[in-house]
Amino acid sequence: MEKNKKKILLVATGGTIACEEGENGLRPVLSGQSLIELVQGLDDIAEIECLELMSLDSSNLMPKHWQKIAHTIEENYEAYDGFVVTHGTDTMEYTSAALYYMLRDIGKSVILTGSMLPLESPGTDAIDNVRLAFTAASAGHAGVYIAFSGKLIYGNHAKKSDSKAFDAFISTGRPYAAVMRDGLIDWRDDSKDDVSSHKEFKADCSLDTNVAVIYLTPGLSPEMLKSYVDAGMHGIIVAGYGAGGVPIKDETNDFLPALDYAAEHDVMIVCVSQCQTGGAQLDHYEMGVLAEKHGAISGGSLPIGAATVKLMHVLAHTRNPSEVRMSFEA
Ligand code: ASP
Repeated sequence: MEKNKKKILLVATGGTIACEEGENGLRPVLSGQSLIELVQGLDDIAEIECLELMSLDSSNLMPKHWQKIAHTIEENYEAYDGFVVTHGTDTMEYTSAALYYMLRDIGKSVILTGSMLPLESPGTDAIDNVRLAFTAASAGHAGVYIAFSGKLIYGNHAKKSDSKAFDAFISTGRPYAAVMRDGLIDWRDDSKDDVSSHKEFKADCSLDTNVAVIYLTPGLSPEMLKSYVDAGMHGIIVAGYGAGGVPIKDETNDFLPALDYAAEHDVMIVCVSQCQTGGAQLDHYEMGVLAEKHGAISGGSLPIGAATVKLMHVLAHTRNPSEVRMSFEA
């Protein structure tokens, strides 16, 4: 082995990258080991070992699978310099956010990647994405990122924005962590310090999955929000319009009493924006300011998926409203 080559663990979980055509359409079957063998030149980038963790379309991934991936990285932490996770693109933004919060103090790189076409399809994007992921994992930038179509995205700011194009992900609410320029990865300066401490690393995989999302549409009844409270949710993400907030003027569609109902039942409400960029800013308009006065918290620049996962993670530690609020301000 060349001295400067990093030792990277590939954690294979399935997704289109591993798919072959079956009787009922594409299904993931290709092993991580075959993936390594099929992408030429990977052994020039890193010394790679592989762990077949699961073989699932990412639509079938649940929070317990996020925990399994995080535990796997924790268990193998000392033995490797970095980690690449191959994953379906459909829910990659949820897994990347979950790993971002669960592996908050990690001092090594965790890079998720996948592809829009199977690895063995002609003209596939898988080869470039896999090479990018291993190159990024070898670069020593601590933290969790998605590597896709020539860009690195912070794990808690990714959004799948296209269901067909190779350039399928955008970074929302934060600039890209890195982009490819002239064949090299150009990292933003602050990406190296995107973790609170590198000294001691322990995964924190606790989650309270009693979190639901309400996507506001004109005329949606506030009873919907109350029904989620009655169903036993501990947290509700309200994906609102523009800068966030809730409808307040129409007498049957005033959400403020529903926010009070949630607060009386110790249910946390976090407002995010339906917009792809810009995020929620509750102090801007009356419906945001009043939502805050009735207990809602701003999800700030977080996309809907990452805000949902963050609320699951935070609620596993505290249901105290000011502590939840503080963790979203941090
Ligand atoms: N359905 C696939 C998945 O998420 C899509 C992909 O990987 O691109 O597993």
